[in-house]
Amino acid sequence: MRQQKPYVRVRNFDEVPFGYSEEEAIEEAKRCLQCQYPTCISGCPVNVDIPRFIGQVAGGRFAAAIATIRETNNLPAICGRVCPQESQCEGVCAMGRKFDALAIGRLERFCADWEAEHHLTSVDVPASNGRRVAVIGSGPAGLTAAADLRKAGFDVTVFESFHVAGGVLVYGIPEFRLPKAIVRREVDGLKRLGVTIEPNRLIGRVFTVDDLLERGFDAVFVGTGAGLPRFLKLPGESLGGVYSANEFLTRTNLMRAYRFPEHDTPIRVSERVVTIGGGNVAMDAARTALRLGAKNSVVVYRRSVEELPARAEEIEHAQEEGVFFQLLANPVRFLEEDGELCGVECIEMKLGEPDASGRRRPIPIEGTEFVIETRTAVVAVGNEAHPLIPKTTPGLRVDSWGHITTDDDGRTSQPRVYAGGDIVTGAATVIEAMGAGKRAAAAILADLDGG
Ligand code: FAD
Ligand code: SF4
Repeated sequence: MRQQKPYVRVRNFDEVPFGYSEEEAIEEAKRCLQCQYPTCISGCPVNVDIPRFIGQVAGGRFAAAIATIRETNNLPAICGRVCPQESQCEGVCAMGRKFDALAIGRLERFCADWEAEHHLTSVDVPASNGRRVAVIGSGPAGLTAAADLRKAGFDVTVFESFHVAGGVLVYGIPEFRLPKAIVRREVDGLKRLGVTIEPNRLIGRVFTVDDLLERGFDAVFVGTGAGLPRFLKLPGESLGGVYSANEFLTRTNLMRAYRFPEHDTPIRVSERVVTIGGGNVAMDAARTALRLGAKNSVVVYRRSVEELPARAEEIEHAQEEGVFFQLLANPVRFLEEDGELCGVECIEMKLGEPDASGRRRPIPIEGTEFVIETRTAVVAVGNEAHPLIPKTTPGLRVDSWGHITTDDDGRTSQPRVYAGGDIVTGAATVIEAMGAGKRAAAAILADLDGG
């Protein structure tokens, strides 16, 4: 897919790939084998009928193609951009055994963008069945549950603690990967369907889950994500200049710190920025640092390149943009000068036997400490679920990590309370969060309306 040149895009926040033209989409779609037993469908957590929509693209029937996708996926413009397709539908595409797998994500993105360009946004607003469901959190899990429930006739209100809806899609994933206008477009579609969105409502403080049930909601879906950053618990981690990735990305994406002082929120970016971690979040932070003016963006990761958990495309884009990977290294402390960060002391690592995660265990090599001088460091080593909802909802069971425990369909230990997405799993992916939202919506439908 055509995309911005690396030396151009590191100076702006515009989206990196341009997307397929109609001709390019048709050409790519014609490669599909239309397999009799299509493995791609089972690789998709929301089971989009992939061969059908690709066949429609190949025939130039784009409106039919997007209608097929929307049968099971309410957020195609988002999934087409950020799903880890290489480990899902494309990872099991039959074509991929000998040649390049079909570019399913790019075709999905093309269809969703084509739909928006041609203003095919009219929706049939389903009649109300008189039942009310409260959805807490407007990330992909909450938005998906809300859409499915509204389509089934429920009156749905989404309560979101931030001032805008979208969850990680707006506060975490940067503009150059997922433009906010696209998330807004999908959220607006939901509003047209009749879903009410109430921003600035922190549930657990404004109302509790029990309050919502007492106020006439028949069921509550908790999709509050995993927004509590994990830290390394190393000396110096609270120094000025050390950010969690959540804070660094939220300041930039949601609060537009890159436009300080025109916007109120500042951000500190030194000439070199060190990001610790190897997932999508670390890639996002390291690439954001470059766009905020850092000359040198370094990712410190304790394993080797093969174990980097980020999407292949994100690693490739980061490398093209000049992000430097300090692999097989781990921070041991943050160094201080006048109360502020002045460097990260690291130690070299080697890989041992595989650990519980199946990846080879990193082992420090004694006496190999070295210092990377920097005044800005970003810790991107994962997130946990926030304890507010479990703490304020008596009887709601959680596991030892603080994630709400549910059955496979999102039913919690409390009657009429359902949960899904990162609040249940810790940290997953957009499409997995959507799948969880779908299953919980189906369970609510079954429990309240008898199926
Ligand atoms: P979230 O998206 O976290 O949404 C939860 C929402 O609930 C938030 O808006 C929050 O403000 C709100 N909330 C929390 N508590 C309350 C409360 N008490 N009351 C009201 N509202 C509340 N996945 C991919 O598939 N591909 C990627 O490329 C990718 N990149 C990522 C990059 C970053 C920086 C991050 C952080 C994650 C990334 N992920 C990616 C993971 C993916 O975004 C998450 O798995 C997904 O967003 C989880 O969806 P969710 O709906 O469970 O939660
Ligand atoms: Fe087409 Fe690949 Fe799916 Fe087969 S597995 S139908 S080639 S997308």
